[in-house]
Amino acid sequence: MRIGQGYDAHRFGGEGPLVVGGEKIDYEMGMVAHSDGDVLVHALCDALLGAAGLGDIGHHFPDSDAAYENIDSRVLLRQVVGNLAQRDMRVGNVDITLVAQAPKMAPHIQKMRENLSADLGVEVPRVNVKATTTEGMGFAGRKEGIACYAAALLETVG
Ligand SMILES: [Zn+2]
Repeated sequence: MRIGQGYDAHRFGGEGPLVVGGEKIDYEMGMVAHSDGDVLVHALCDALLGAAGLGDIGHHFPDSDAAYENIDSRVLLRQVVGNLAQRDMRVGNVDITLVAQAPKMAPHIQKMRENLSADLGVEVPRVNVKATTTEGMGFAGRKEGIACYAAALLETVG
């Protein structure tokens, strides 16, 4: 088994939609980002790549490459999972913590788990997503953006 962790943060800005965990969330702003700004999926990709010893998302999908402009981050996630499969690794489980003062994440968490379950090729109970506020402290607390932490366990197959 191999373990990895990932972290990402994005700033609110522009118009929506706000995309988190593959879910479009109704909010007054979107994210400032080269891709769709899905902070959860980016943190998760980094956790998976980290567990596999394959560097990070910026290395595999550089900002400077126009191919990734406004891309659906779930496409990148599926590419990462495919890359793991080629190396005889599959996802054991993942655990994700969103840090957001706003918008409310709770109503969207089950759908996020289902989205990620499909992309990772594992059952929903192996995909945990939780959310916390920071009680008003820091950039998330000031509603400037959202941060996300992810942990992933990979299993070697064959
Ligand atoms: Zn990101």
